[in-house]
Amino acid sequence: MKILFLGTNGWYATELGNTTSTLICSDDFYIILDAGDGIYKIDQYIIEKKPIILFLSHIHLDHIIGLHSFAKFHFNQEIKIYGYKGTIDGLNFIIKHPYSSPFSELPLNIKIHNLDEGKHNIGFPFTCKLLVHADPCLGYRLEIEDKIVTYCTDTGLCPNLFELARDADIFITECSYKPGQEEWGWPHLKPEEAAEVASKSKVKRLILTHFDASVYKTIRDRKKAEEKAKKLFPEIKSAFDGLELTIN
Ligand SMILES: [Zn+2]
Ligand SMILES: [Zn+2]
Repeated sequence: MKILFLGTNGWYATELGNTTSTLICSDDFYIILDAGDGIYKIDQYIIEKKPIILFLSHIHLDHIIGLHSFAKFHFNQEIKIYGYKGTIDGLNFIIKHPYSSPFSELPLNIKIHNLDEGKHNIGFPFTCKLLVHADPCLGYRLEIEDKIVTYCTDTGLCPNLFELARDADIFITECSYKPGQEEWGWPHLKPEEAAEVASKSKVKRLILTHFDASVYKTIRDRKKAEEKAKKLFPEIKSAFDGLELTIN
């Protein structure tokens, strides 16, 4: 499978990147992790008729604002959107007149589903659990092509984060704070905390994304975070918009 990082900023877009969105191209599905404004690029990669699955961590605007761009897409296949309880009401409240075209007016086959915590199977198994954030936020552990891909943003350290990451082949998580930064707002991770989770949960690879746009202003800032975390967990990479990983 291929994993493409289309948006790697947290909070807002800058010249460095769009807000969070990641596309997994697997044998049978296109799986999208969050709908920050980087999601507008998916039509460069979604060329087959495989079902499109969109997992939303939560409905803070930097994770859903890209839904506004769906009017540009011409996909015929079903698009299923999954998020925690309240996602159906939340999206239908924001993605409508006078803010945007409601999904019902687009020539797309979109269905939104609310999820409870736990194990699910939608053609592939996955587990989702609540993380710790300012509003309810789900972390996901996906079982795709005999690999475990864990995706957890936005969150502070919490037991479910360690559990979802356990033995994952790829652990994609957030890096909102800078190394050693004093936490000033909502629960988020520093790079050394992401590395601690990766190490204790024995993941194979750690990828950092969702870099807070107000403190990560250059690629060099992201590299410094990577270098700090590397001391605790060597198999780490900081993502950037356009990063492509092939997982075999
Ligand atoms: Zn966010
Ligand atoms: Zn958030």
